[in-house]
Amino acid sequence: MGRGACGSRPPGGLDLDRGELMQPKYPPPTPGVFRITNTELNILLKCSLMWQLREDRKSRRITVNMAIGSAVAAGAKLDNLTKMAEGTPARMSDLVDSGVEAYKLEVEESEVQESHLEQIKGLSIIPQYMRLYGSRISPRVIEVLAVEEPIVSAVGEIEIAGTPDVISTSGIGDLKTGKPWDQDRAHNSRQLTIYDILHIARFGKPSKLQWIDSLHSTGHDRYYTVRTAEDHRRIYNVLLNAKRLKESGIALPAPEGSWYCSRKYCPYWDVCPVMGGKQKG
Ligand code: SF4
Repeated sequence: MGRGACGSRPPGGLDLDRGELMQPKYPPPTPGVFRITNTELNILLKCSLMWQLREDRKSRRITVNMAIGSAVAAGAKLDNLTKMAEGTPARMSDLVDSGVEAYKLEVEESEVQESHLEQIKGLSIIPQYMRLYGSRISPRVIEVLAVEEPIVSAVGEIEIAGTPDVISTSGIGDLKTGKPWDQDRAHNSRQLTIYDILHIARFGKPSKLQWIDSLHSTGHDRYYTVRTAEDHRRIYNVLLNAKRLKESGIALPAPEGSWYCSRKYCPYWDVCPVMGGKQKG
């Protein structure tokens, strides 16, 4: 596999249920080599029209749900960095403050799809999410090795870049706050396969385990999974498809019935010329 790159960034890590405050600082791509980030891959393969709308807009557009994701990610990052530096978790009050501040910043710096009232409701549930994180998830993440570290790996002739939330001696953890996860979804997560490939680039070997911490308004669930060399090989075709899609410039809407094609999960719902417009009549 390829090479790792170290660094740090403010909380975030955009995917469909989470915003980002800053782009991670990856090393420049190798000249002539196609580079794609995990975020780009995720959006492109879910809905290339969403990708196009994102590229065309000057300001960043988010949903309340994505701002909640960024807030929880900020607290988790603080917690994991504290564990690395001091060997103890962050205080609960600091987690709550960090989440609230990150939410406000994310909303202030972005174009938020929902109304002001919905944004205030989102803010009001951050302390509850942070307390759930601090009591249920934090105690289960120990011996932290890396926190939101930008890593790049070569897969065949393509470079893939990503920032796993947390890498510990146990494996790779990814925190989700959007639609609640289940075991099948964790087993099939393309993102976890890519993170395992990035783990090889960074540590010279695959991770022992991967897991999703699914945090939602009623609680938390953790789903463990593992990746094999066969999973790593299969991802190459996925990356090739994404490369073709990106280079073709074709913008197709999400497949009919996709859960993320909704006002709650797609930040472009209100401006989408296909689905959002159709629903609004
Ligand atoms: S509303 Fe649906 S089709 Fe339109 S950009 Fe969003 S996910 Fe894609």
